[in-house]
Amino acid sequence: MSLQGEMKEITVDEICTLEKNVLLIDLRSKIAFDHGHIPGAISFSELFKNNVDINTKIKELEEIISDSLCQSVVLYCNIGERSKRIVEELQQTGMDAYNLQGGYRKWLIQNTDVFSREEREQYSRQMVLPQIGQVGQEKLRAANVLVIGAGALGTVALTYLASAGVGTIGIVEGDVIERSNLHRQTLYDASNLGRKKVDVAKERLELMNAFINIISYDVFATPENINGLIKDYDFVIDATDHIETKFLINDACVLAKVPFCHAGILAFEGQVMTWVPGDYPCYRCIFEDIPEDYVPNCAEAGIIGAMSGMIGSVQALEAIKYITSAGELLVGKMFHMDGTNMTTRIIPFEKKNIRCKVCGENREITDVSEYGMGYQKKDCAIMHG
Ligand SMILES: [Zn+2]
Repeated sequence: MSLQGEMKEITVDEICTLEKNVLLIDLRSKIAFDHGHIPGAISFSELFKNNVDINTKIKELEEIISDSLCQSVVLYCNIGERSKRIVEELQQTGMDAYNLQGGYRKWLIQNTDVFSREEREQYSRQMVLPQIGQVGQEKLRAANVLVIGAGALGTVALTYLASAGVGTIGIVEGDVIERSNLHRQTLYDASNLGRKKVDVAKERLELMNAFINIISYDVFATPENINGLIKDYDFVIDATDHIETKFLINDACVLAKVPFCHAGILAFEGQVMTWVPGDYPCYRCIFEDIPEDYVPNCAEAGIIGAMSGMIGSVQALEAIKYITSAGELLVGKMFHMDGTNMTTRIIPFEKKNIRCKVCGENREITDVSEYGMGYQKKDCAIMHG
C-alpha cells in the first residue's frame, strides 16, 4: 500500500495479498455487484444515487466498517475516481481507508481466473456495464446462437455477436457472394466474389475474435433440415430474405421451443420481433400465412444497406439481451423503423392469435417436415432481408 499525497491507494496486485483483517467494499450499483465483484467484497451501493444525502450514507458506511472490527478498509468503484472522494471523507475521521487504483475495471482486466488477460481487455468496455459484468460475459461465452442467412441482416448480426464474445455461433447459408451483395453485406469484399458466403464469413469472424467458435452449415434452411439445425442452439436469428423461410423458421422454433428473433427489411423500412417460449404471439400469429397478393422483394424494390445495418444490429442486441437477461426483449411487440424520416414505433401484439396454425387452438402444423408444401413460394414476399 502506498501513500500518494494525501490519498492512500492500493493497487490491484496488492489487493490479492491482503491480510484477512481488511474490509473490501464495492461502491458500484447492486446490479453491477450481482454481475461480478472482487471476491470477498461486500456491496454498499447507495452512495452515488441521485437525491441521496451523502453525509447520512457515509455515517452508515462508517458504522458498517466499525461493526466489521476490521482494522483497514479498501473501497472501489468502477474506475477508482468516485471512491477516492469517499476514502478522503473516511480518512478525515481517522480511519485507515484505501482507494483501489483504477477501480473494478482494472481488477477485471488483471484477474485471469475465468477469462484470459487478452479476453478481459477485448471485452472490458462491455464487461464494465452493470447489466453485463463478468457473469454476463461468462453467459455470452457459454451461449450458442444460430444465424440463418448470412446476407444483409446476417453479416451485421454476426459481426456484433462475434465481437461481443458469443462462444459458439452457427451460420446457415448456401449462397455464394455476388457483386450486388457488396453494398450491404458487410463481411464480404470484391476479392470474395464467387466464394461461399459461409466460408468467407467464418474466416472474417475468426479474425475478428479468436476466442469463439464458428460453425458453418453450407445449406439453405429447408423443412427437412431445419429441426436438425436449430436443435443445439439457445437462440436463433432469422436473417433470411425469403418469406417462406421466415414462416419455416417461426414454425420450427415455436414447435421446438427455441427462442428466436425475426427481422424484415425492405427499401428504407425495417421490423424486428422476438419470440420466447410461453404465452407470447409468434410471427405466424401476426402474419398468419404466406400472402397470396404479390408484394415486391428486395431485388425488385431495393434496399438501403444502412437500414439492414441498423436492423441486423437490433437482432444481435436481442440475442445478447436474451443471453444476459439485460433489459427488455421485443417479445409480444414489433419494433418498426422508417429510415426516411427516422420514425420508430413499437407495435404491441399482446395476445396469441387463436387461428394461428402453429400455436393457436386448432394447430394444423405439428411437424414442419410434414407441412413441407405449405412453405412453397407463392411468388410473393413481404418485408424481408
Ligand atoms: Zn402463433
